[in-house]
Amino acid sequence: MQLTDRINVLSESITIAITTLAQELRAQGKNVLSFSAGEPDFGTPRVIKDAAIAAIESDKTRYTAVDGVVELKQAIIDKLKRDNGLHYEMNQVIANNGAKHSLFNLFQATIQEGDEVIIPAPYWVTYPELVKYSGGTPVEIPTDDASGFKITPQQLRDAITPKTKMLIITTPSNPTGAVYSRTELEALAEVLEGTDIIVASDEMYEKLVYKGEFTSVASVSEDMFRRTVTINGLSKSVAMTGWRFGYMASADAEMIKATKKLQSQSTSNINSITQYAAIKGLDGSADDDIEMMRKAFESRRLEAVELINAVDGLSVVAPDGAFYLFVNIKAVTEDSLTFCKRLLEEKEVAVVPGAGFGLDGYFRFSFATSIDNIREGIARIADFVENY
Ligand code: PMP
Ligand code: GLU
Repeated sequence: MQLTDRINVLSESITIAITTLAQELRAQGKNVLSFSAGEPDFGTPRVIKDAAIAAIESDKTRYTAVDGVVELKQAIIDKLKRDNGLHYEMNQVIANNGAKHSLFNLFQATIQEGDEVIIPAPYWVTYPELVKYSGGTPVEIPTDDASGFKITPQQLRDAITPKTKMLIITTPSNPTGAVYSRTELEALAEVLEGTDIIVASDEMYEKLVYKGEFTSVASVSEDMFRRTVTINGLSKSVAMTGWRFGYMASADAEMIKATKKLQSQSTSNINSITQYAAIKGLDGSADDDIEMMRKAFESRRLEAVELINAVDGLSVVAPDGAFYLFVNIKAVTEDSLTFCKRLLEEKEVAVVPGAGFGLDGYFRFSFATSIDNIREGIARIADFVENY
């Protein structure tokens, strides 16, 4: 079949591809240790599962409003008010099939041929692909461990052209764990003043902060509230990756309405059972579980950082948030793809090459797995690096 140019520009998600390959190798009986998955290793909290079961039992299993049932949209609004100090109305929020779907809809509604989208690198693998799919051009701003993987106001100023339509900010970051402080966000906000640039703020890892404080980008100023689309979900905070729930909120009700139109012609409402479950992930009912998981990640993070930094040739800055280490391998090689391929073949350890995130000379190591796995995995990596 003749495929479209549109689909041919798209690459497969490398994070998903490597995680799937690791699972396949394990199914073949190989002793593969995977640090590639971007998901918590915990089960979904009881209170959320119970809400889903109750939804099934009470036949809440029909089509719903395209943008979500009123109770869910109210829970999103209340969450954004309580946790982030952001005030949205019913027509300014929408529930999607995961935050990835929120981003897809947002780009489809706002980005077209000729538009530039500024993406700080390293970035989450999906952004440039979805930007290209919508016809836009990704414009990267490079960062590295020396700059704490954060862009400066001057870098942002230099990247802006008359074609700039959007800036993507991810805090805490996947893959680096960098967290922007309020002061840093205020400085970036100043650069944007007087422009029409939209900010897509991906706040998926909001609940996983170990150092400093999380700041919601739209909360920085009135001007930022007006231009920012806040994107979040429950995949990471309450271990709901498979349920598929995400949402976005924007002061621009017309934009939200446009994405609702797209959703009405593509996926319709998200799974009705997930919607009732998600309410419990948003309304504070699962806060103890969230804190339990955050604490578990926090203790693994410290040990993993120490173990990696003890390996000659590797170095890593302790991440302030999320559950990834972005490990510098430049003393060993710049070629992260070959490094990760050989590591999987020779030591049966799966990590994601930095090249997939737009920065070679690094790999991403997820510590959302047991401490025993982490110890064994880093021991294998140490052995591998010694003989590279
Ligand atoms: N944003 C970031 C930064 C992510 O790492 C992920 C991971 N899956 C997502 C968005 C999308 O998550 P989901 O679609 O599961 O809500
Ligand atoms: N976002 C997660 C990751 O970075 C899950 C995989 C994906 O959606 O790409 O690994």
